Amino acid sequence: MKWTINNYPVKELATGEELSLNTYTVTGGSGKHVHIQASVHGAELQGNAVILQLMEYLNTTELKGSITFIPLANPYATNNKHGTYTYGRYNPVTGHNWNRNYIDIIQASKYDIDQFANNHKDQEWGTIKSLFKKELSNIFKNHQQTLTSKRTLSENNKLNLLLQQIAAKADGILDLHTGPVATRYLYSAEYETDVSHYLKFKHILIIPESFDGAMDEAAFMPWIHLRNALSKVGKDITLDIESFTLEFGSEETFCMKNAAKDVESIINYLKYKGLLAGTPDKISSHSCHLDNYKTIYSLKGGLVDYHFQPGQKFLKGDILASFYNLKDLDPSNPIDSAKSTVLAQEDGIIINRCPSSSVHQGMELFQVMTKLKENRLDT
Ligand SMILES: [Zn+2]
Repeated sequence: MKWTINNYPVKELATGEELSLNTYTVTGGSGKHVHIQASVHGAELQGNAVILQLMEYLNTTELKGSITFIPLANPYATNNKHGTYTYGRYNPVTGHNWNRNYIDIIQASKYDIDQFANNHKDQEWGTIKSLFKKELSNIFKNHQQTLTSKRTLSENNKLNLLLQQIAAKADGILDLHTGPVATRYLYSAEYETDVSHYLKFKHILIIPESFDGAMDEAAFMPWIHLRNALSKVGKDITLDIESFTLEFGSEETFCMKNAAKDVESIINYLKYKGLLAGTPDKISSHSCHLDNYKTIYSLKGGLVDYHFQPGQKFLKGDILASFYNLKDLDPSNPIDSAKSTVLAQEDGIIINRCPSSSVHQGMELFQVMTKLKENRLDT
């Protein structure tokens, strides 16, 4: 087992200091390559604990293939503290969400994917894959050079393009995040649904095979374009390169004990991909399509007593939270006069809730999975 460490500069600060990130690549025998990164949102820390546990595990286990780890993938966001709180989700300068700054490289570079598909349609899928990975590496290099020469490489582009470029070599891309106050859940594209069960998450959100700026989409879109272009010239393939976003609980928490359990999901996926020996298993889960992942916004301002926690199921009519509006309350009947309730309008599972109990009207209170599909898969 061999470890290779590389360092990439990502941002020069106003004082001249340079922020950089390290990649740690472990290589065993021949096999597939997996990319694992954490903390693109700076307050989302648990993925780093998972990476440490996995690195530790790999030092005593035989590996077929290679894995690149990028802990603390966005050092600027991690260092962006407001009081004791980490403001890591948005670039404080531009306001952009760090996980919406990626690009669909095939569209952005105007690459002629139909030409590539036509040139290689008669070759084996394994050969096409390795040729396309080489092509992707060149496309990223050229695109970056174009942006740099036109001086249009913004601070957001630089980090996100770098991460995409590093990940483009992989057969599996795992982007480790957390929610605000959240249960553990997984984003999976439609074509990856069967494989997603090997990651052993109890809650799965199915996303469309289209681009909305996130890393998981940015990593699978070139392959979706290629699959579609090959189909047009009469070659139908089963896409075996996946990209997932894994949400390991709540932000601002780092727990090695929980990570020892969290890492099992990735170990199981690595077994499925053939990097580790052993038979992968699946667990039962609930899934829903992104259209049925609903945000419950606050109808009022006030102080909130949350009655349901992430991971809990609820039924239509349940009281999800109580609101206390302390303006103009009746002091002879203080509690009842200040109180109102938020009722569930349909059945579902709480996935995220707002970390604060002080909310303005219109803020996001809960994110919930509805119209659940039950996947009974325990083996
Ligand atoms: Zn995140």
